[in-house]
Amino acid sequence: MDVLRSVFGYSAFRGQQAEIIDHVVRGGDALVLMPTGGGKSLCYQIPALVRDGLAVVVSPLIALMRDQVTALREAGVRAAYLNSSLDPNEAREVERAVARGELDLLYVAPERLVTPRFLELLDRTDLALFALDEAHCVSQWGHDFRPEYLQLSILHERHPMVPRIALTATADAQTRAEIAEKLGLGEARVFISSFDRPNITYRVVPKKTERQQLLAFLRENHAEDAGIIYCMSRAKVEDVAAWLNAQGREALPYHAGLPPDVREANQDLFIKGEGIVMVATVAFGMGIDKPNVRFVAHLDPPKSLEAYYQETGRAGRDGLAANAWMAYGMADVVSLRQMLEQSEAADTHRRVERGKLEALLGFCETATCRRQVLLNYFGEPFPEPCGNCDTCLEPVECWDGTVAAQKALSAVYRTGQRYGAGHLIDVLLGNATDKVVQQAHDSLKTFGVGKDLAKAEWQSVYRQLVAAGFLTVDIEGFGGFRLTDSGVAVIKGQKPVKLRKDPVQERRRGVHDALRRHVSRGGSAPGGSGGGLSADGVSRSGARGTLSPADDALWHALKDCRTRLAREQGVPPYVIFHDSTLLEMVASRPQDRVGFGRLPGVGGRKLERYADAFLEVIREQG
Ligand code: ADP
Ligand code: ZN
Repeated sequence: MDVLRSVFGYSAFRGQQAEIIDHVVRGGDALVLMPTGGGKSLCYQIPALVRDGLAVVVSPLIALMRDQVTALREAGVRAAYLNSSLDPNEAREVERAVARGELDLLYVAPERLVTPRFLELLDRTDLALFALDEAHCVSQWGHDFRPEYLQLSILHERHPMVPRIALTATADAQTRAEIAEKLGLGEARVFISSFDRPNITYRVVPKKTERQQLLAFLRENHAEDAGIIYCMSRAKVEDVAAWLNAQGREALPYHAGLPPDVREANQDLFIKGEGIVMVATVAFGMGIDKPNVRFVAHLDPPKSLEAYYQETGRAGRDGLAANAWMAYGMADVVSLRQMLEQSEAADTHRRVERGKLEALLGFCETATCRRQVLLNYFGEPFPEPCGNCDTCLEPVECWDGTVAAQKALSAVYRTGQRYGAGHLIDVLLGNATDKVVQQAHDSLKTFGVGKDLAKAEWQSVYRQLVAAGFLTVDIEGFGGFRLTDSGVAVIKGQKPVKLRKDPVQERRRGVHDALRRHVSRGGSAPGGSGGGLSADGVSRSGARGTLSPADDALWHALKDCRTRLAREQGVPPYVIFHDSTLLEMVASRPQDRVGFGRLPGVGGRKLERYADAFLEVIREQG
């Protein structure tokens, strides 16, 4: 508790942190499952400081190691890292520091850790604990498998008395069991947190003119914020980034096809800058722990709900309100279905893939709370609607679409199960286009039976029918629709169909700039639930506000001060102070060091170094 305040400047533990820390400090083994942004790092950093000796942290992510060590040093902690980014001299220097007992925390890449040289060094060192970060890397079935992780059990064999804490944000039971087994943590106490990310507002909007929609979303909500925009292809990444720049928004591209130095430079700019938008393929994001990513947008659907959760989870690590926004339309549904049909994978694998796709489509099309759908998918019951997703904030109407579905499906059937939505809708609306006339589809019984709905409504009907699996998509030819068995059941009147009414116009309210809202509510009282906004603080977002001109001026002046200090030291701005700390400065305007020291995120060392600079800004701005 003392360390939490004096080193990290926080006034309260979050969630299970206190219990976990207590358990590890006493020498117990722990397996910690906590979502991104949940505060895993403190769970080993505090025991590392409280217990005697060196804490060894195994992490596969080089960028993350560097950031963590920078932040720790900034807080006055004796920390270092060892990985392939150091030259031999630097590495030897770190080893010497270990040997002299000058470090409290050492971050090590797994391949480095299991070398005989390093293991011998550890044999000669007094050890506080082993922390195994990103522990799911031990899972051979996961995406991040690291063979070296399988060798980590050697640590326990050589040092049976040293406590171990394994941490991951991957929730599923299978991975958990694998971690326990492969790392020999069967006896460890397991700490499972809720995987809810209450400060993230989930939204899925029907795709129309995606770029204009995106731009409106950015202008309305995130004019000055940093965020990530995910696209499926490299070409689209480049296009969207260039287009955003032309619209006056600073955006950078990131995908695996860019030269490594460009990728690294763009990532660095994103991390060290303020308000930069990263347009990226899924190649971007692993190991980025920038806390003030205010939004994650998807212009193409993610691969699965797991991927969606992980990608959107990069928003709002600081606990302040953040947006997850996705534009999704007919073409996306069609290509997802096609991909599935094409996949040549073995049957069992394909069944798994199909299940994942259905879950993703179900999430996109749901008329109920998105958070409930998401968390239920991960096996976590979430009893009440969340109040912080689009379907909660702007409930969608449902309608009995049985008759419309029957019309839409018979149009498919009577035209020979070869056409896509465009032609079918012409038939339904009675449009005698050349193609309709040529195929004599104007003589069909279904010709013109759909005049009661508009074109956009029929598009929505077809999208939902494909999403719900009443129709499937032909993979040869041009993606024509075919009926499935359940589609046939609908035509026969054996199955009612409930459809959601797409919002006519995107309504934009309630998710205005998170920061403004935070300040307008007077910030969070120190000693509260920690880390700024609490879960229900976000859902009460109806009370949105704007910063007064004076607050706005101070906020920008404080940010400028932070940028200047960060540049001088070559570190990301958030290493100096998080946004939430600056916001508390705006809200409470401390006048002296005593007041400054009470701000969340101001530990002893930061008080020492930065109080004067920021106090001066506050005084100048009056
Ligand atoms: P994870 O590794 O679980 O994704 P981190 O350890 O990076 O999460 O923590 C997420 C953010 O929350 C960090 O910016 C951290 O400083 C902050 N944080 C963690 N614990 C607390 C706390 N008890 N009070 C306030 N902020 C906290
Ligand atoms: Zn909800």
